[in-house]
Order: sequence, then structure tokens, then C-alpha cells
Amino acid sequence: MIQPGAMLGILGGGQLGRMFVMAAQSMGYAVTVLDPAQDSPAGRTADRHLCADYLDFAALDELGSTCASVTTEFENVPADTLRYLAKFCPVRPNADCVSIAQDRIEEKQFLIRHGFALAPYLILDGQQSFATAIDPALFPGILKSSRFGYDGKGQKSIDSADELQSALLDRNNSPCVFEKRVPLLREISVILARGRDQQVAFFPIAENRHTNGILDTSIVPANIKNLIAERALKIAEQVAIRLDYVGILCIEFFLLEDDQLLINEIAPRPHNSGHFSLDACITSQFEQQVRVLCDLPLGGTSLMRPAVMVNLLGDLWRENCAPNWRLILNHPNAKLHLYGKQEARPGRKMGHFTVLADSAREALTQAIDIKQALASQDVFDHPAKDEAEASTLVGK
Ligand code: ADP
Ligand code: MG
Repeated sequence: MIQPGAMLGILGGGQLGRMFVMAAQSMGYAVTVLDPAQDSPAGRTADRHLCADYLDFAALDELGSTCASVTTEFENVPADTLRYLAKFCPVRPNADCVSIAQDRIEEKQFLIRHGFALAPYLILDGQQSFATAIDPALFPGILKSSRFGYDGKGQKSIDSADELQSALLDRNNSPCVFEKRVPLLREISVILARGRDQQVAFFPIAENRHTNGILDTSIVPANIKNLIAERALKIAEQVAIRLDYVGILCIEFFLLEDDQLLINEIAPRPHNSGHFSLDACITSQFEQQVRVLCDLPLGGTSLMRPAVMVNLLGDLWRENCAPNWRLILNHPNAKLHLYGKQEARPGRKMGHFTVLADSAREALTQAIDIKQALASQDVFDHPAKDEAEASTLVGK
């Protein structure tokens, strides 16, 4: 086991990296972040920031030779980077797993090959001719770029073969997946940790609500039947086993009306839908990432209290002026997390808050109240009245 005091490495300087850094530091480890940006949420929190490209081999030499073990906070790091680092120290998850998860086409092929159920899809890798008859049952559907898509970016709703054809032309026939839009009863995610010793620990299942393709709210525990929860955990573990995975893995599922459970996609890292674990579980997904990286025993993951997590997107900022945080800070059941990002842009994840309550329903009601109050323009118009207004708006 890698002892506290050691230096750990992480690729990527975003908020997931930042929360990993904080978890590692609170357990006595030091962290080096490799990220090409001068200023990044994790870079400024880390003990050391290597400001370099992911394929800067001098920087990788430095990272690999000074760290006891390396992980990643995002799936788009080049697989070659992970392969290279693996010559120096353990890299978790490994390059093969990350390269599958970073490419929708490879991911779907991998999952189908191993018998997992997915929404009907067609691979469009630029090789086939448009004349190929497209199964009409795939419409209406969603065109998704095979690589570098996130938060609904790189996705387009498509209703007809003509529309599909012109959308592909717009994209210069870059590799895509076209997926049937399935009728969702719910979206859920399973986050698990799998150690080198093949031990698995599951986080409680989250029910996820998206707006414009971006995660908006996670409700835990998910409002699903026990049998479905058990099936989801089994499937998630099977995916981890098939990948021979070591690290934190998130499996996003679509649950349909007829109880069908389809895998949407997988993420080889902690996931936005697991942020509730920072406040509602004994071990957060980030601490668990540290534990897997250092060969420590996996921590307890039971839910201490029902929780609802709400993302704080840049849309809530007005002319780069932050919303009234008192609305969250004054609330006895709410916890605020901000990622230290300087510039607020629409759709940009700036932070999140979590509400804990006796039931998920109660936590959701309170979270929605806070969210609506945050978004209400009035609060910005009368800064002098902030405090009084905040207390009435959230019914403190
Ligand atoms: P991203 O990588 O941006 O998270 P996803 O493939 O997970 O992309 O899509 C984002 C969201 O769009 C999903 O969480 C879901 O709400 C919706 N979505 C994506 N694919 C489908 C589909 N086939 N049917 C219905 N909804 C979908
Ligand atoms: Mg997704």
C-alpha cells in the first residue's frame, strides 16, 4: 500500500481533479496535477501543478518519476499518455479502459460484444455511403459525436434520414453514433470502485435529471424498485469485470417503462452524479479514488441520509456576478461546493449544492426551493435586502 505522505498524480485540472486533490490531501497525501491550463480548479489546489500538454513527454517523465501512482479525472486524456506513464508507476484506470470509454463507437462495440443491452444505434464512421438504407425504426434519434462529447455537446436531435445526411455532411463525416431516442422512465447511475484485489464497493444509486443534456439534479436513493436496483448493480459490476477495471467507474443507465435497463454510457472516473457522496456517504467517490490508487481498503459507502445534489451552472451568474450564496449558506440542510472557476459561462459547471433530509422527496423539495430562489432575478436587484429575502425565500 502506498503510505500517506506519498505524491500522487492526476491528469486534468477540472473540478473532479480538484475534489480528488482535496480528498487525497485530507488523507495525508500530496498531489501533482498535470494540466495544460495556467489556471485550473485542481491546478491551484494541488501541491504541484505541471503546466504542460498531455503529450509533453518531458512533463510525463517528471510526473511518472515523482509520483507513486497516477489517475485521471477525465476520459479524453490520450491513451498513449497513460500507456507511457504506466512504465513508471501504477496507472488506474489503465489506458485500455480509458480508450474504450473515450470513444462512443468503441464503447458500444465493447458493450455489445459482451452482451450488454443498449439503445438501438448505428455506427457512422464516415466509411459507409449515404445510400445505405437506414432502419426507419431508429428515428427520431440523436446523433452523437464519437469523441470529445460531454454535457450534451456534440449531440443533435434528428427526425429523418435527410436530416441525418445533412447533419453528417456538416460534420465532414467525422465518426458518430446515431442512436434511437428511447422513452425514458428514469435515468440512473451506478458508481463503483474496484480495487486491484477485485473487491468492489458500490455507491448508492442516483436518479439523474438532465436539462439540455446537462446533469441538473441527482436524487439519492433513486426511486426505483429493489429488483431493478439489484440488476443495475449486477450489470455495473459485470462491466467492471469485463474491463478488468481498477479504479472508479460510473455506468449511466436508461430505465424504460417496461423495466428494461439499457446502458447509456460509461465514465472511467468519478462522476458528477456521485457528488452527493461528499456529504451523504462516509467515504466520498474521491476518497475512494485515492484508496484504489493507493491500494488501501475500500471505504464504507452506505448512505447516511437521503440527498439531492443540484449543479450550479454559469447561467446563474449575471454579468459574472455570483448568485446570492446566503440562500444556500443560511439553509440548515444544505451544503455549498464551489470549484473556484474565475469565469461563469452558460452551461459551465461552477459548483453544486447538496441538501440532506429525512427522505429523498423532502430533500428534493428543499433543493428545488433553493434553486428557484437562486435563479430569481429579484435577489440580484436588491442586494441590500439579500439576507431577509434569502430567509423568506427558502423558508428558513
Ligand atoms: P454526454 O456524454 O453529453 O453525457 P449522453 O449520451 O449521456 O451524453 O447524453 C446526455 C443526455 O441526453 C442523457 O443523459 C439523456 O438525458 C439524453 N439522451 C441521450 N441519449 C438518449 C437516447 N438514446 N434516448 C433518450 N435520451 C437520450
Ligand atoms: Mg452522459
